[in-house]
Amino acid sequence: MAYRSVTVDHLRLRRVIMALLRRAGSSAREAKACADHLVEANLKGHDSHGVGMIPAYVNNLLGGRLNLNQHIRVVKDGGSTAVVDGRLGIGQVVAMEATELAIARARKHGVAVVALRNAHHIGRVGTYGERCAAAGLVSLHFVNVLDHDPWVAPFRGAEARFGTNPICIAMPGGKGEHPIVLDFATSRVALGKVRVAKQRGKPVADGLVIDAKGRPTNDPNVMWANPHGSLVAFGEHKGYGLSLIAELFAGALGGAGSIAPKNPRRGSIINGMLTVAIDPRRLGNPKAIVAERRAVIAYTKSARAAKRGLPVLVAGEPERIARAARIRAGIPIELATWTDILAAGTAVGLPRAEALRIAGV
Ligand code: NAD
Repeated sequence: MAYRSVTVDHLRLRRVIMALLRRAGSSAREAKACADHLVEANLKGHDSHGVGMIPAYVNNLLGGRLNLNQHIRVVKDGGSTAVVDGRLGIGQVVAMEATELAIARARKHGVAVVALRNAHHIGRVGTYGERCAAAGLVSLHFVNVLDHDPWVAPFRGAEARFGTNPICIAMPGGKGEHPIVLDFATSRVALGKVRVAKQRGKPVADGLVIDAKGRPTNDPNVMWANPHGSLVAFGEHKGYGLSLIAELFAGALGGAGSIAPKNPRRGSIINGMLTVAIDPRRLGNPKAIVAERRAVIAYTKSARAAKRGLPVLVAGEPERIARAARIRAGIPIELATWTDILAAGTAVGLPRAEALRIAGV
């Protein structure tokens, strides 16, 4: 059954989100950075990290758990290493500032490690990998999720112990070539994708979710029950292992704090991110690296498709395909999410009628 939705042109959607953030108190620059990030996530097919996050952002803002117009503060500086504090600012802004710092330091030193703490939700982590790749750098990003209950069960566990702890690894290509952007939650699906299924009144696929007793279920609502269910880590013990590593790298090594119960859980979404940026020119001949990369990708993609019409893709490609389609056709937003966005707008002084006029729906 088709879910009820509105379809909004991406440029108009950017303007709605910008107007909403401006009314909330963001500078024009901050409003644009956040709106662009969220709408890009929608365009790239990741509705879980798109404009549907806005009601949670407004809720955290009004609850004093998110600060507008913040910039990173360097709390420890070792040249090729830095620890920065996001001051509970808009994550899309402070995480990009941390990324720019990592880029500058990697250019200077060949490799840089930047630990970001106290960032409000940083959104789609691939954004930061794409930025590093555009600067000609390879990057690894380990992220943990703090200030709320855990959602993901460890392998063999019947209850949650982690956030969805995403990892992103990006590698640039040669001139005119797309970067590889491997960017995923370490749960089989991001919580936002279960939220989208709930909003659409649809079951989730097999093997993604367990209920509060640890039993497999297709009902997305278990994640919002009390006690709540858990998402399942991808790749069994291997994905669970990566989730633990993201928690430890961002939370312990990077000093962002962890999901351990001694730390606060106020119902917000705070991310820690440990970024490692590498200048490939320090490792080898750039032309040889690009040529080898090209050969591997061509060989990989030459594998015969197991199913007709579903060719082998490389990471970053599905997002480019989704983007091209949604630029043309608009961004579908389930009605429940759209209603929540309009209500969030009203709460910060953007009247519903004005939002609808900007959106053109
Ligand atoms: P996903 O399961 O859709 O996986 C996406 C990755 O897999 C991308 O790199 C994509 O290019 C690649 N991919 C997808 N299909 C492919 C195919 N057929 N062949 C080759 N590669 C393919 O993503 P997800 O786990 O649902 O995560 C969605 C987003 O949520 C990510 O951008 C992540 O950063 C974000 N996230 C953020 C937070 C946070 O707290 N900020 C938490 C969790 C997830």
